[in-house]
Amino acid sequence: MKKYSILAKELLDRQIKNWDWCINGYGSLKTVITHEFIYDGFSLKVQFNPGRMTSTSAKVDPKSIKERKCFLCEASLPAAQERLEYKNGYRILVNPFPIFPEHFTIPKIEHLPQQITGNFGEMLELAKDLDGEFTVFYNGPKCGASAPDHFHFQAGTRKFMTIENDFDSLKKRYSVNDRLVDGVEVTMVDDGIRKMVFLQGTDKMAVEKEFYLIFNRYSTLKHLDEEPLMNILAWTEGEEFRVVVFLREKHRPARYFAEGTERILLSPASVDIGGVGGIPVEDDFNRITQEILTELDRSFCKPVICC
Ligand SMILES: [Zn+2]
Repeated sequence: MKKYSILAKELLDRQIKNWDWCINGYGSLKTVITHEFIYDGFSLKVQFNPGRMTSTSAKVDPKSIKERKCFLCEASLPAAQERLEYKNGYRILVNPFPIFPEHFTIPKIEHLPQQITGNFGEMLELAKDLDGEFTVFYNGPKCGASAPDHFHFQAGTRKFMTIENDFDSLKKRYSVNDRLVDGVEVTMVDDGIRKMVFLQGTDKMAVEKEFYLIFNRYSTLKHLDEEPLMNILAWTEGEEFRVVVFLREKHRPARYFAEGTERILLSPASVDIGGVGGIPVEDDFNRITQEILTELDRSFCKPVICC
């Protein structure tokens, strides 16, 4: 059988040719404008991407979610959308509103809530199956998932997010704590804007175990009885799994709700914190300076405590 990374690329090739939503969506990426801001040891980009308006302004409160039809369930998927069956009860779909030049949504077929508990091992397995060609990401139900009621991962072209290239340099400059347990390297990183946990190891079970230890410890420290706000990235580098867990303070920054020239319509999720902030309104995009981006990212990224 062909590798899933190849099957996914072939799926995208077909959908870009034969499905009008994809023809428009991927065509619109040509008009995206990017600014890059350089920090000490890492960089952050922002993009003006009008195609992201729907997800940026999505209403994700429980009432709105209850009143709309789930767009990841079989009954709502457009007929022209091909379903590539994947294992563990998932399917791979092309995302017709892309951020990445290759962008997939990988939902469970069954309508189950977005929660990482019980599913993180499958995230690692998916990263391995995508063979270093794509980075898998997870948005928590209260910090970026536009379908908090239907479990899904997403995946996009490797090295699109700046953090993938900055991984080693961030670790070297901004590590605040690191340890090696059962062959898994765990590094806490604070770059002045983001608080993150990096996990690296070749043994899937050991990486999974460390993730859940951190998840449980952090939940206890924050006195939470629901999933902590977090966005997660996972990819493979040769035989090694690399995972970045972003710890979050809140969902949307105050500027998202501000009026007039104070407003910046940025609704941050994995890709934004991974280093490519998406802004669907041109005026808001034009207002972004390095100072504003720093303040904005800090305001939703940095939790008071780490783990
Ligand atoms: Zn559903």
